[in-house]
Amino acid sequence: MAHPDTASGMRLTPDMPICQQDLPLDWYQPEFQPYAEEYLALPDRRAATVLPWMDGYVRPALDHFGPGLMLLAHYYMGGAIVKLVERYGGRIADSYELALKARENPDASVIVESAVHFMAESIAILARADQEVWITNPKSGCTMEMMAKEHMLEPAFEELQGRYGDDLLVVAYMNTSGRVKALAGRTGGAVCTSSNARAVVGWALRQNRRIFFVPDRHLGEVVAGWLGLEGEDLYVWPGGLAGGRQTIAGLGPAETARLDRSRMVLWGGFCGVHTLFQPAHVRYWRERGYRVLVHPECPKIVVDEADGAGSTKYLWAEAMSAPSGSRLAIATEGHFVRNARDQAALRGVEIVNVADIPTPEFSSMGCGCATMSRNDPPHLVAMLDLLRRGKAPDPNRVLPGDLVDETTAFRERLPAPERERIAREARAALERMIEITSRGAP
Ligand code: SF4
Repeated sequence: MAHPDTASGMRLTPDMPICQQDLPLDWYQPEFQPYAEEYLALPDRRAATVLPWMDGYVRPALDHFGPGLMLLAHYYMGGAIVKLVERYGGRIADSYELALKARENPDASVIVESAVHFMAESIAILARADQEVWITNPKSGCTMEMMAKEHMLEPAFEELQGRYGDDLLVVAYMNTSGRVKALAGRTGGAVCTSSNARAVVGWALRQNRRIFFVPDRHLGEVVAGWLGLEGEDLYVWPGGLAGGRQTIAGLGPAETARLDRSRMVLWGGFCGVHTLFQPAHVRYWRERGYRVLVHPECPKIVVDEADGAGSTKYLWAEAMSAPSGSRLAIATEGHFVRNARDQAALRGVEIVNVADIPTPEFSSMGCGCATMSRNDPPHLVAMLDLLRRGKAPDPNRVLPGDLVDETTAFRERLPAPERERIAREARAALERMIEITSRGAP
């Protein structure tokens, strides 16, 4: 059952727990509930119990689709589902690699993604015309992306464009909908991920235009700091609904003058999982001899205290290559840290979550991405079996420009001409990111 040669380096053992908690039955789509009922009736959640049940559905689907089926998952997936995806020949990756995986695979025609919606939509935007993309749970969204929906961001963009015209260049973090990425493409801007934000923002600064960076203000501040920008170079525009209501006229003369002096306007969005970390957490572990590594979605004051900062891929590589006997404290999504901790322990490396400090002074705990964890074994099993039987529900099909209600799974689709325009503009912003990244610009 162990698969030490997986791309991620993860290993699965018979006693490993598969999921961190069960979801209530009514959280599943109606078509998925029979599979969930079977899963909930299993005697336990150990790999040795869950895998034979999964095999009964997944193996026929793998045989049916052959190399045409591609399974993808993100590192933040809860429990051991990342290992399950690899067990069935799938791939685990960060959001940058996920976006590229499908189109790099000439055989893949059906892509099934276990992660959040913006990742699946990015795959769909870059996919070839003969590829279809499915998400195992359409209610799986990113709360940061939800703070920058098109109806919130577009009015702010129009305010800024009304004042700065073609000088405005949008850089959209990958954690945005296709519609917001299209906004970046329309201004000649680019998408970025945490693994290439420094290169992409560096490129944007060299265009000598005013950057509108959306939606993560913390990543924006961290990257701006790496590139030598500070203080009045940055202006934080409110995020969420408040951002859509804010007008420049409502800022008053002094604030407007500050806005005019800035080189980067940052949308005030954030990730609740990563803003939990504090500088004092970092100091706690450093004082105890741990090397502290953090994700740049953490506030800049946390990044400034740490020994290193980088993307999900960087953090995973550091954890997997740390020499035996070393001790690392990592500040990022909780399931990632737990998976890294379990895998590193097999090599004699100790890993802790930076926020896990059980003292009266802190009594804090790191947390996982709750929305990403809405994917579990029954979601994967049901999606594959329903696809094999030609009965996959439409809300699970991902098309560029879809507007998803993460509470109900309702999906508003654009008419074909509008969808093609959004896909074209968003693809331009993604392609620009790929070009900048593959050039290795500083
Ligand atoms: S960890 Fe935060 S930024 Fe990442 S997918 Fe979850 S909510 Fe979004």
